[in-house]
Amino acid sequence: MKFGIASSRPLLALALTAVFASFASAQHPVAPGLSSNPGARYNIFLNFSGFDYEGTWGGGTPGNVQAYTQDEDASTFNPDEIGAIKETWARVSQAFVGFNINVTTVDPAPSNLNDAQRKAFYDNKQYMTHTIIGGGYDWFGPAGGVSYVGVAQQGTTAFGMRTNWVFPVNGTGTTPKYMTAAIIHEDGHHLSLNHQSDEANGDGYSSNNGASGDGSYAPIMGVAYYSQRGTWRAGTNGLNANDVLDLQNNLDIGSLIDSGIGHSIGTATDLAVTSEGAVVSADAQGWIMPLESTGYSPDSYTKDYFKFNSGGGQLSLTAHDGTQFLQSGVADPGATMRSVLRILDANGNVLGVATEDSTTLVHNWTGLLSAGTYFAEVSSYGAYVSSYEGGSRYFNMGAYFLSGTGFAPVPEPATMLVIASGVGLVLRRRRSK
Ligand SMILES: [Zn+2]
Repeated sequence: MKFGIASSRPLLALALTAVFASFASAQHPVAPGLSSNPGARYNIFLNFSGFDYEGTWGGGTPGNVQAYTQDEDASTFNPDEIGAIKETWARVSQAFVGFNINVTTVDPAPSNLNDAQRKAFYDNKQYMTHTIIGGGYDWFGPAGGVSYVGVAQQGTTAFGMRTNWVFPVNGTGTTPKYMTAAIIHEDGHHLSLNHQSDEANGDGYSSNNGASGDGSYAPIMGVAYYSQRGTWRAGTNGLNANDVLDLQNNLDIGSLIDSGIGHSIGTATDLAVTSEGAVVSADAQGWIMPLESTGYSPDSYTKDYFKFNSGGGQLSLTAHDGTQFLQSGVADPGATMRSVLRILDANGNVLGVATEDSTTLVHNWTGLLSAGTYFAEVSSYGAYVSSYEGGSRYFNMGAYFLSGTGFAPVPEPATMLVIASGVGLVLRRRRSK
């Protein structure tokens, strides 16, 4: 097993303007407690609260690393910092949606341990990563972050190997998008992924030829600071131990997790709607995962199907790419997938394809439907092959949720209505006594 150290590139433009803030307190400020998938086999612990690191790491001496801070007071988190922590957690969680992974800000170590004891606890805790987001890279050398490679699945490690680093002070800057690009890159290393090199010019890091703007994408294991989306990617050269399916198969972290939404018309999930005919976004969400490493088409991914009724009239349905961890019905920043939404009739014939807004990654279909039963199909756009690096394959995978109006409620079976009303009567009688 490889135990090399690998780092992400620093954002040099930001590095020039940043100043190393002084450490204000030995006490750690407490970050909001957030968990994306409690009970998952593998934990990524995002530590924004600072860490007094005893000893050396990778030949450097981290020392007493300050908490994440924007205002140079690392003793507390101000509201902007709390907001940035939440957004960063949501972005990192999104990148690992569908894996048997819990992204959390809750320390898995017992609360009575000091930092030296915590470091040892993490080294002996299989299936976890302790990612410190704080301080600068001065103790290590210019980088956005740094990690050991392929240690996450080891039964025990030593010398703080289960801890890895992201450097907001002078490596990534303090912006959630940039910190996230480094966090998921370093945690990819921890999970065994190597760098995605630029296969066209031989550079060690691919940025997909500097892709930026709407519709752009770049590999998480390369440089994804500047593109609209960072995506998992399978490469073709000797460095390409960076296939997400290999990752989940080889790391013993369990298979990709199913979203629980029906994957065929026959098993379609009833679309949750209110009595006013609006989609309940919190109950209409899922994620699309690759079924194979070699396929490029949407058929190489799971597809999710929702069944709905129209009472006749105008209907609007929207698929939002991304998670909704921070606010139900609102897409968190940092979507990893570009989806396709189709409206199907009762026989599965395609009636319409949603129009995409490439800036927001929102897909809307609005139209008139006669009364009846229909289906909504959410699929991946399919893998990308970059025109720049012909052997590349970018997975188009990740979370989505639905919103919409104009739906007729799904009728309950008559017997259920009778039972429901009977229960209601009993309860009312009891209350009136
Ligand atoms: Zn790296």
